[in-house]
Order: sequence, then structure tokens, then C-alpha cells
Amino acid sequence: MASERHHFPYEIDGLVIKVNEFALQQELGFTAKSPRWAIAYKFPAEQVETVVEDIVIRVGRTGVLTPTAVLKAVSIAGSTVSRATLHNLDNIREKDIRIGDYVLLQKAGDVIPEVVRVLPEKRTGEERVFEMPDLCPECQNPVVQDEGEVAYRCHSISCPARQREGIIHFVSRDAMAIDGLGPAVIQQLLDARLIEDAADLYSLTFDDLTPVERMGKKSTENLLKAIQDSKARGLAPLIFALGIRHTGEKSGKILAQSFGSMDKLLGATVEELQAISDVGPTMAESLVQFFNLESTHRFLAKLRKADVSMTAEESSKPQIFAGKSIVVTGSLEHWERREIEKIIEEHGGKAASSVSKKTAFVVAGEKAGSKLEKAQGLGVPVLTEEEFNQLLE
Ligand SMILES: [Zn+2]
Repeated sequence: MASERHHFPYEIDGLVIKVNEFALQQELGFTAKSPRWAIAYKFPAEQVETVVEDIVIRVGRTGVLTPTAVLKAVSIAGSTVSRATLHNLDNIREKDIRIGDYVLLQKAGDVIPEVVRVLPEKRTGEERVFEMPDLCPECQNPVVQDEGEVAYRCHSISCPARQREGIIHFVSRDAMAIDGLGPAVIQQLLDARLIEDAADLYSLTFDDLTPVERMGKKSTENLLKAIQDSKARGLAPLIFALGIRHTGEKSGKILAQSFGSMDKLLGATVEELQAISDVGPTMAESLVQFFNLESTHRFLAKLRKADVSMTAEESSKPQIFAGKSIVVTGSLEHWERREIEKIIEEHGGKAASSVSKKTAFVVAGEKAGSKLEKAQGLGVPVLTEEEFNQLLE
């Protein structure tokens, strides 16, 4: 297969070899982690030689400067690669990667291009050692390495790179879910000074969007509708959309559930935050710091003025699963995984990913594997889809 894989019209990174017969599968059963009747093999990563032509800086949403290698384009594992992230300065120093170096490149997990090592025997002496810039390449403010951290960061909240990345995050699917607003459109809106931050999206008009490239009448209308619709997303996605350091999508949900409104969250102390399970000291500090910023208050005031919902939606559904941890496993007939998890949450439950003694029950679809076994072992009730549906009714 290793020699044939490149003739396929699709990419593969390995094989799974299975026992075909169901009866034999049953007989072999499962270990705690995996079936005994199937085994996965990964191909060793293909490595190619190329040249680091330059090392450039990308500034991310949290202001972190990420060095990226600009490579002489090479074909590897089915695609042409001309860039590879170098992660941080420590990684560059450790591997001693210099501009002009010949390097070995591979795709980590056959997906992400990665510089494996330098080929020092190919050095000519012309190679240049990379230095982190003193000033942010996007806003010329000083670059700082925080104590105890690997990353170098631009701390300016008005850094255009941070603003752009922040807006990209704000509109993303698990945040405010504004469809039709890709990075290219966001960049154009910023360049045209139609928006300065994500809150300005809510004051965009049809005429504002007319000059934007590749935006026809229909897509403009759709975008404006998506922006309007996002106002009702509720507190949890909004907290996530704010892009506060050390908080993710899950923290958004937990905080929304615990505080119920942005106002209450704004007034929370480190101690109050830490009293919530799943909120550690780092996240609590980060939240308080963020909510104390003048810029945060200005941003939230704009959202408020645009009527963006800042309360956790009071679910209209009966809270039959309140306080219950429920695990869904196997493939379901009636719902997508995300859908059924949403249903569980709307009814007050928590959709958990692993089975423990605290699991209220498991909903098992077709081909349920180790989680089902574990539930049975622990004596946790197991429901079919049909039985779960009856609970809802
Ligand atoms: Zn900057």
C-alpha cells in the first residue's frame, strides 16, 4: 500500500486492517481502549529537502508573534508546500534553523508541514541567524517576552493584526457564527475603515458593503442577515467570541451558566470565579484582567447599543436533565452528534465525553464501543435513541 498510495485520487495516511466477519468480531471483543479485531497502521512521514528562503512573522489574535519559514516550494505528501510554522524562537534556536539553510521537511500527521532538522553539511556560511524583531511588524509597538513564557508578544490592543485576528475569531462558527464573513472581506472592511473592531459589524449597512470586492447583492443581504441573527446568539458564544486569554468555548458555557448575564460576570471577583468548578486561578485572573480594561468596557458598550444579547438564554425546554452528565456514543440514526448534545444542554444536562460513575446515563447508537462497555461495567444505565426520545416527549 505504501507504494500504491500515491495513485489514489485521495490522500491516505495509513491503513486500518479489520477482521471482516461480524461473528469473529464479537468473539474477539474489545480491550478497554479499542477493538481487538482491528488495528491501525500509519505510514512513516515522507521527508523532502528544501531551503528556508526567509523567516517571517505572523501576529495572532492574542498578539503572539509566530515565526514562519518561507520555503522553496516543494511537493510533499500530495501537496505543494511553501510555508511551515516554526512555532517560536526556542524551537528555531534548538534546531538551529537559519535563513538560507537546507532543511528536511515532513508533514506532521501527514497534515502540517514541519521542519524536522537542518542539513548543516550544506551550509555555505551565507546563512543568517534569525532574530525576533524589537517592534511588532504590524503596528511598530514594542515586542515583549513575558516572564516565564516562550512566546514574544505585541501588547498593543490597537495592533491591526490582533484586531483582524480578533474579528476572525469573533465571527467564527462556535463564537458569533456570522457566515459569509471571511478573512479577505474582514481585511477589506478594515482597510476601508468601515470597521475598527468586531462591534462595528453591527452598524454596517447595505451601502457600506457595496464597494467590497466579490460581494454581490445576494451575498450582501445574506451577510447582513447573519450579522443581525448573531445578536441572539446568547451569552456563552459571546464570552467565547471575546477571545479572552485562557478561556475557550467550554469556559464560555460554564461562565454563562454560572453568572447568567454579562453584567454579573463583569462584577465577578477572582475568588468568585475560582469557586466555579472548571475555572482555575489562571483563567480567573485572566478574566478579571480582561473585564477591568477600559477597552473591554467600550467594546461591550457598543455591543449593548447594537442590542446584542448579553444574557444566557433562558431555555424554554423543561430542564429534565438538570445537573446530569450524559454520554452519547456510537452512530445515531436521528441526530448528528452536535444536535443531540445541544438537545441535552437545552434540557439542562451536560454532554460529557467520557463515562464515569457520575454519568447519569449513556445514549448508545449503532456500533457503540468501549464507552458502552465501560457503562455496562460500571452499571450506568444505557438508553437507545428511541428511549432517549421518549424521555424528551
Ligand atoms: Zn502589533
